[in-house]
This record gives sequence, C-alpha cells and structure tokens, in this order.
Amino acid sequence: MQLPLQTEALVLSEAGGPFVLTPIVIQDLRPDEVLVEIKYSGVCHTDFWVQQGNLADVMGFPAIAGHEGAGIVRAIGSDVKNKSLQVGDAVLLSFTACGDCDDCKHNYSRCRMFGPLNLTGTRRQDGTSPTKLLDGRPVRSQFFGQSSFSRFTAAHELCVVKCPSPEDLAIYSPMGCGYQTGAGTILNVLKPRPDQTVAVFGAGSVGFAAIMTAASIPAKQVIAIDIVEQKLALARELGATHTINTAAIQGSVVDEVMKLTGGKGVDFAVDTTGVSAVVEKMLDCLAYAGTAASVGAPPRADKITVNVGSFFAEKKNWLAIAEGDSHPPEFIPRPIDLHKQGKFPIEKICKVYPVADLKTAIADMKTGAVIKPIIQF
Ligand SMILES: [Zn+2]
Ligand SMILES: [Zn+2]
Repeated sequence: MQLPLQTEALVLSEAGGPFVLTPIVIQDLRPDEVLVEIKYSGVCHTDFWVQQGNLADVMGFPAIAGHEGAGIVRAIGSDVKNKSLQVGDAVLLSFTACGDCDDCKHNYSRCRMFGPLNLTGTRRQDGTSPTKLLDGRPVRSQFFGQSSFSRFTAAHELCVVKCPSPEDLAIYSPMGCGYQTGAGTILNVLKPRPDQTVAVFGAGSVGFAAIMTAASIPAKQVIAIDIVEQKLALARELGATHTINTAAIQGSVVDEVMKLTGGKGVDFAVDTTGVSAVVEKMLDCLAYAGTAASVGAPPRADKITVNVGSFFAEKKNWLAIAEGDSHPPEFIPRPIDLHKQGKFPIEKICKVYPVADLKTAIADMKTGAVIKPIIQF
C-alpha cells in the first residue's frame, strides 16, 4: 500500500474535547513500523486520560488515542525484525518497549522507557509523528506505539502480535491491554493454587479478566468487589464465587472479606481501580503472607497509610504490576487458548459498536451496561 495515505481517525483537538472522525494523512513508514488497517479497537479508561488532558504534560494535542487495536497488516517497514510477519496478516496490537534495555529484553512490560515510549504519542527516535492533519499540523499518533482509534495506523513493530484466529479479531482486540493485564496478573505473577483465595477490586475489563482467569484455575474463592450491582451479577455468572457491593454494605469491605474467608483474609488481592483509598483497604484484606497487586495506576502524588509493623510481622507483599507483567508475543496466546477452552468467556463482557456510535459505547461503559466496548472501523 502506497504512502502518503489519506484516511480518517478519531482526533482529539483539545483537553476535554470530543473524539471527532477527522481526515488525516499518514506520511511515511519508518523501517521499524508496520502499517495496519485497524478493523476493531477496544476502548480503555486510559483513552479517557488522553481525552481529559491528564497526559497533556507529555502528550499534547491534536492527538489520536486508542491502544487495543486489531487489524490487517498492509505494509511492513524495511527493517522489521519479525520476519514471519506478512502483508495480509491479522494482528493484535499491544504496548511498545525499547526492546533492548536490560529490563525489557525478555519482557517488554518491564521496560524502563515504558512511560516515555507509550504515553507521548510520538516516535522514539526523534519525537516526530507519522500522521498529519490536512492542514499539515502533526497529530500525536503513536499512543502505546499504535493510536488505534484510526482506520489506518503506522504502529511500532514491537506492538504487533499475530492473531491466531483472524475470525475472532473483534473479541480479541482488547488482548493487548485490558485482558492481558488482568489475565497476566493472575497467570504470570500471583499464580494462585486451587486451595487459595483471590479478591479483585473493580469489575471493569481488567477486573473481569482477573476474575475469569482466577476462576479458570479454579481458585477456592474468587471475590469480586465493585459498586455496580449489574457488574457484580455478571461477575457471579462468569466465575466469581462471592461478590461485595461496597455501595450497599454498612461496615467496611475489610470486615466483609474477613467474614467470607473465616477471619483469615485473602491470599491474593488485585486492585484495578487505582483509587488510593481502595488500595489501602486492599492491603488490610490480606491473609498471613498474602500478596496484593496494584494494577490500576493511582495518582502520582498520593500517599497511603500502612501499618508496617503488622505488614512485616505477617509477611505480606504489595506489588506494582504493569500490563500483567506480560511479554505480549509470548503471553497473548495464553488467554486466547483459555478462551478457546471456554474458560475465559470474554464474549460475555464485550459489545461491538460502529465507530459512529462511539458516544453510546462510552456511555454504556460508564453506566456498567457493557464492560468492554469495542469500536468497529
Ligand atoms: Zn526497554
Ligand atoms: Zn488500557
């Protein structure tokens, strides 16, 4: 396919402004980039950070968000290392990494450059963008190396993972971020045994991925915690053994978790909310030698109170985990395998919307009517 290429993307012009389908031109493809025709993209809360301007100190406007793309390879840069990749391949897009620091050679999610490479929306080498508006202004279009809210995108090669079943591109599109984060936290890091217990705070797509994966083991108890009853009902259907609606209880969530676990607390807890007050409670829900994982990002300046004496005496652990500690090319096939075995029923939590209905998709996500909206280009 020839570049420059005129196409369309959901462009954000300013902080707080709407996603507007706007003509853009993809100028060129660097040797380490892949041109992908995006067919579907999941919608993730991090896309709203961009929209609200929460990343404006590093990622200005105009900008294209989206980081759960799925589509078809239309051109391959001259120096792409993955030689098995071919034009016409169905691919899922994940985050990017530098690929050669000591931290990420074997696991991209540990890259020290994770923030600068994924959250600035520009090319790593020179801060440029492959994309411009028709008036020539550059558009940030490498969000997580991909900016998938676009009909076509020049994605960095490390984002690109072949999709083993092209017919399922729609439901697998969120693998690169939300599903990988929840499933990876359970399978790569926490690894609960069948006699252990897991609590998941927040029943969004990351929380559901963690709940379904823990249930696939199956862990002895999988406790889903949220404030929306409709989501908790779905969590029970998809593997949660217990649920706690913190908007409906009288006392503390810690008391409720203690009641459900015979006073022991949970062996593992996952926070997907990034709300510091929730993280504080999560730590208090841990059993002796239990491990808590922060998966949602809290505000940078926040502090919490931890009783370090009992935390130490009871040998507790608290981990910060990005993207489920996943190396996408190796990890993404695992939740896909689980799905094929019927143990990761993501089709029950997603809904596909035409790009023209993005507003409805976002509204449904915010009310909890749909856990993971997917837009179709
Ligand atoms: Zn790196
Ligand atoms: Zn995300």
